[in-house]
Amino acid sequence: MFELKVVSHFAAAHQLKMVAKKCENLHGHNWKIEICVAGETLNDAGVLVDFGELKQHVSEIITRLDHKFLNELDYFDDDNPPSSENIAYYIANSLETKLRNSKIKVVRVTAWESEDACATYILS
Ligand SMILES: [Zn+2]
Repeated sequence: MFELKVVSHFAAAHQLKMVAKKCENLHGHNWKIEICVAGETLNDAGVLVDFGELKQHVSEIITRLDHKFLNELDYFDDDNPPSSENIAYYIANSLETKLRNSKIKVVRVTAWESEDACATYILS
C-alpha cells in the first residue's frame, strides 16, 4: 500500500458550545489540514495519483471553508458544530466523494487548530 499526504491551510471563525470555556466565544483559527490517501496500484508514470490532481480536489473543498464563519455554513449546525473533529470529518467525506471512481481512497484527515492541538478522522 502506498500513502500520499498533502497539506493545506485555511483561516476561518467558529463558535462552540462549551460552557464556561473560552471556545464559547466567537474566535478564529488558522487551520492546517493534513490529508492522507492510499492505494495499491501505481500508474504508468510510477505515481499513485498526480499531486496536482489531488491538490485540486482538496482546494475545491477548502475554498468552501476559507474565510468563512463556519457555524453559518449549511453543512454545520447545532448537532454538527464546526469543531476540528467535524471539520476533519467534513473534509474526509467530501474528498472521498470526489475520489469515488478512482483507485485511491482517503485514509485520514487531520485538522490542526493550533501548533499543538489537532483532531484526526480516520476512515475505516
Ligand atoms: Zn476554536
